[in-house]
Amino acid sequence: MLHTIAAFDRLGEENAFAVLARATALAQQGRDIINLGIGQPDFKTPNHIVEAAIKALRDGHHGYTPANGLLATREAVVRRTLTTTGIEVSADDVMIMPGGKPTMFAAILMFGEPGADILYPDPGFPIYRSMIEYTGARPVPVPMREENGFAFSAEETLSLITPQTRLLILNSPANPTGGVTPRAEIEKLVKGLEAHPHVAVLSDEIYDVMTYDGERHCSLLQFPEIRDRLIVLNGWSKTWAMTGWRMGWSIWPNKAETGNLGDKVRKLAVNCWSCVNAPSQFAGIAAIDGPQDEVEAMMKAFDRRRKLVVEGMNGLPGISCITPKGAFYAFPNIAETGWKAKKLASALLDEAGVALIGGPDFGILGEGYIRLSYANSEENILRALERIEAFLEKQR
Ligand code: PLP
Repeated sequence: MLHTIAAFDRLGEENAFAVLARATALAQQGRDIINLGIGQPDFKTPNHIVEAAIKALRDGHHGYTPANGLLATREAVVRRTLTTTGIEVSADDVMIMPGGKPTMFAAILMFGEPGADILYPDPGFPIYRSMIEYTGARPVPVPMREENGFAFSAEETLSLITPQTRLLILNSPANPTGGVTPRAEIEKLVKGLEAHPHVAVLSDEIYDVMTYDGERHCSLLQFPEIRDRLIVLNGWSKTWAMTGWRMGWSIWPNKAETGNLGDKVRKLAVNCWSCVNAPSQFAGIAAIDGPQDEVEAMMKAFDRRRKLVVEGMNGLPGISCITPKGAFYAFPNIAETGWKAKKLASALLDEAGVALIGGPDFGILGEGYIRLSYANSEENILRALERIEAFLEKQR
């Protein structure tokens, strides 16, 4: 009954892909389109990572790997987790996945069913809600409020927990807002969760190193109190500009009552995708163990662009934009322009040649906002800002 065609019909989409397709089609017709819509770094994967994949292919790594990933790749994740969080996890609890999304898919599938509630950030990554609806569980939005820097409020999040709540999805730094939840708030949240042992946590930390202004990401792994019900989603897509390689990892809990949840996901992999391709897994090791100078240079470029976007947006009539503390997105408030967000996004694409995404594509609370990805050159960002300004002036 659960996973029928009707369930598939409940699946949503990621509108960023539709906007990309439309922007590409317009560009093919000869239009000059500036794309601030897509959530992927505009940088190339660093060369030493590409070389590691080529070497793996030349060395004959053409076959299946273990379903949970090569031990060497999982051990690289263990090293990386120790460096970024100070926490030593076991390679047995690590799953190498074809991207970050499959972790979301597996975790939500594990906890979602009719009668269950799943809490997720709104505005937030659209796939959370889509997958929750697929399982028949009730999606319960946790508001990410502009006045709170688009961060989680521990108090508000805890107030939404009921006996039916099975899973709480966290994301910091966040897509689509760039919001970063401060450590003090996460500490409060974890403390509150101790009173709700029936609630598991999926922490989407895919933007973990992408923070600015001295802000530091706080990993949920740093709280042993909830380790036995914590799933951490992470991956290579954003940090090393590897979205097309389909490489993610997750860290799963292993407790007596439920067994090793990672091992259950390994079985899902056996039944579904077998394994992630071998050359990508060798590339993943090179990404973690190799020089990080290109990642640092990318972050410096993002930081410069972030400032341009925030300053530019705040100079436009009817628009205000708080300074995002992480990821590579800005989420300006456009309420005072009088435009509905999705209408503005599509008019800007059609009439001004600027692709961006309307806030409602990220949730009920996204109305009144647009998302700009600053994964584009400073020159193009400045051109896009000029075009948006000219467009808005024309409408006055
Ligand atoms: N989680 C968040 C918050 C994201 O923004 C994205 C991609 O945009 C993902 C997960 C998925 O990453 P991947 O491309 O590795 O599946």
